[in-house]
Amino acid sequence: MCGIIGYAGHRPAVPVIIEGLRRLEYRGYDSAGVGFIQGRELKVIKAEGKLAALEEKLAHYPNTVAMNGIGHTRWATHGVPAERNAHPHIGGNNELAIIHNGIIENYQEIREKLTKSGYRFYSQTDTEAAVKLIDSYYKQSGEPLTAISQAMLRIRGSYAFAMMFRDFPDSLFVARKDSPLIIGQNGDGCYIASDVPAILDSTRTVYYIDNLEIARLKPDSIALFNIDKEPIEKTPS
Ligand code: GLU
Repeated sequence: MCGIIGYAGHRPAVPVIIEGLRRLEYRGYDSAGVGFIQGRELKVIKAEGKLAALEEKLAHYPNTVAMNGIGHTRWATHGVPAERNAHPHIGGNNELAIIHNGIIENYQEIREKLTKSGYRFYSQTDTEAAVKLIDSYYKQSGEPLTAISQAMLRIRGSYAFAMMFRDFPDSLFVARKDSPLIIGQNGDGCYIASDVPAILDSTRTVYYIDNLEIARLKPDSIALFNIDKEPIEKTPS
């Protein structure tokens, strides 16, 4: 399981994400990637190897205006270390992107069912099955929270997910089961991380997300829900 970072706030997101990923480098990884929404388009940029390779690619993109985004360092469990298997993985017509720590145990079964309904897969990962499953529910409801909670009922295994939806550009969504995930907040915005050190310099206000909980983050707010989409209250640590 490797590194997750997300940021929704008032500063350009990509440098915040790269900085956070750098703090998680000690865990080891084989590839890295970021996702952000710019000009109504969801952009995903990934590179095999070290963060420097990702930064080199990012230098070609005018990404400084995106104020929220997600980033990942991958340690492959399903599929070789390669750019196409790196996260974020995308669903729909580039409508949603997901990063994932953990293992989806029933990904083959999900993949086969979705293939029968017309889905095509570009990677070898278990994670792509999750994003396409969420996409299939999102197509029905048009509502991220509903789609995520429906997918959580189907997925077996462990996950910390961070997600973006192109048509909800001010929000990040997270969900978790058996893989660590925290949310932090300061005057600049809200942060997602798989590990405390990644955001320790930015904030000391941290919410621990428990199993089968979902959160929606905006620059100035954090809303938490159980798997039935009922709001829950949490005291920050
Ligand atoms: N199982 C996922 C993959 O192989 C996530 C790996 C990770 O936790 O870094 O892509």
